[in-house]
Amino acid sequence: MQFMEQRGVTLWFTGLSGAGKTTISEAVSEKLRSQGYKFEVLDGDIVRQNLTKGLGFSKEDRDENIRRIGFVAHLLTRNDVIVIVSAISPYREIRDEVRGRIGDFVEVFVNAPLEVCESRDVKGLYKRARAGEIKGFTGIDDPYEPPLNPEIECRTDKEELEESVAKVFDKLKELGYLSS
Ligand code: ADP
Repeated sequence: MQFMEQRGVTLWFTGLSGAGKTTISEAVSEKLRSQGYKFEVLDGDIVRQNLTKGLGFSKEDRDENIRRIGFVAHLLTRNDVIVIVSAISPYREIRDEVRGRIGDFVEVFVNAPLEVCESRDVKGLYKRARAGEIKGFTGIDDPYEPPLNPEIECRTDKEELEESVAKVFDKLKELGYLSS
């Protein structure tokens, strides 16, 4: 059994629904696993079924959702786990608050134009939002505030998944979180 020297970091994927957060974070997880790193995943959809169950989609509830995810991410990060968070996290201020608290924080802006996300409509949610069945849907009738200075930006409408994954690994190496 080989023990890897590793530093904890929170890898925070933010972006519109359907931008590719889950897809990229799963591919990153798979690669970390194959290299023997210790990591944990906090996926927005899953977190909302347990840790933040009962919270809705008002700004207040969205911020509380992110604050709780950030709390857990912090606990893990300071124990040298690589934490992968995948959550729309539409508000800049709370993302920056969490960043400040955790310190070892790498923000990945998963960016594709709304039209692209909507045409993918992975979960059929855009269709429902357009039909008025879902109110306050990010990108439709609720804001998304893009990061101003993300460590990484993945343009998933223009780059292959492998390219996005490589960007993440390159940056983590550059910042000293993974050995090169
Ligand atoms: P999110 O987690 O941001 O809501 P998902 O990962 O669930 O988004 O869905 C993104 C969709 O976009 C998937 O169907 C995925 O296959 C597709 N896709 C196309 N190109 C890319 C890419 N370069 N990176 C990530 N996802 C991509």
